[in-house]
Amino acid sequence: MPMIALPETFAAATAIDLHMHSTASDGALSPGELMRLCHDRALTHVALTDHDTVDGVDEARSEAERLGIALLAGAELSVQWRGVTLHVLGYLPEGVQGSLVDGLAAQAVARESRNLEIARRLEAIGLDDALNRARDGVEGTRPLGRPDFARALVAAGLVPDMSAAFKRYLGAGKRGDVKMHWPYLGEAVGWVHDAGGVAVLAHPLRYKLTRRRRGLLLDDFAAAGGAGVELISGFQNPDETRDLARQLNERDLLASKGSDFHFPGGHLAPGSMSEAPRTAVTPLWHHPRLAAFAGRLA
Ligand code: AMP
Ligand code: MN
Ligand code: MN
Ligand code: MN
Repeated sequence: MPMIALPETFAAATAIDLHMHSTASDGALSPGELMRLCHDRALTHVALTDHDTVDGVDEARSEAERLGIALLAGAELSVQWRGVTLHVLGYLPEGVQGSLVDGLAAQAVARESRNLEIARRLEAIGLDDALNRARDGVEGTRPLGRPDFARALVAAGLVPDMSAAFKRYLGAGKRGDVKMHWPYLGEAVGWVHDAGGVAVLAHPLRYKLTRRRRGLLLDDFAAAGGAGVELISGFQNPDETRDLARQLNERDLLASKGSDFHFPGGHLAPGSMSEAPRTAVTPLWHHPRLAAFAGRLA
């Protein structure tokens, strides 16, 4: 249980970060190291949201408890929606249960098959033995992701840097963005609900959708039972934030915020993100299922 309750308003909550990665997926810090950094940065409420796994949560939990930080277990699920790869954050105050158990197992299998397909496609452009190259330097047995292939492309000298790797080969709509193995949006939201959790659409401004199409996505997400959306994800344009806030309010969607922190030394740290817009929104932590995390129990 948290020592401190979260503020009532979205804008007043500044010691919070509900989107971060560890070495359980493509982050650079172990879950324990991440919690220590969060503590150093004076965060009081955090979520661990590794890609398609909760494997880092136990380690994060024991460190968070020691430090007096409120930790919300989560996972960032890869899904497909109308031909686009999207990310849905599942917040899991009651842990992994029900259909989410098989859902997460299916995500691991999907990642394996997807990696074979990504490797096949990158071999076609000259990255021999792509799967082993991507695995190279990855500690442990965690599933690989696109960043590992990006690193392999850089190491092989096929692109100058990670950003070029995504731009040319791995980003949305490029040949390495293999989406056929992911579940549909509604399925993944169903798994999260079945576990007693709360589903939140991650970084809606990053999918290169027109405003109209983003509205359609929000409609579909709300209809599937999605409860909230990341209004703030790292640093973003204030005009876009204001506009997104309006789109959330039109649909009674709750607002969340997170850095999407992956590694130290970049432009992001735990808790670093753009300011809240002036538009009033309802914070995600007003959701009844998150009352204990928010410290809102009487
Ligand atoms: P995956 O989960 O395998 O689909 O990989 C997606 C991950 O790749 C994201 O969560 C980011 O960590 C990373 N990523 C996506 N786009 C870029 C980019 N342009 N540059 C660097 N990393 C990226
Ligand atoms: Mn990532
Ligand atoms: Mn994401
Ligand atoms: Mn993320």
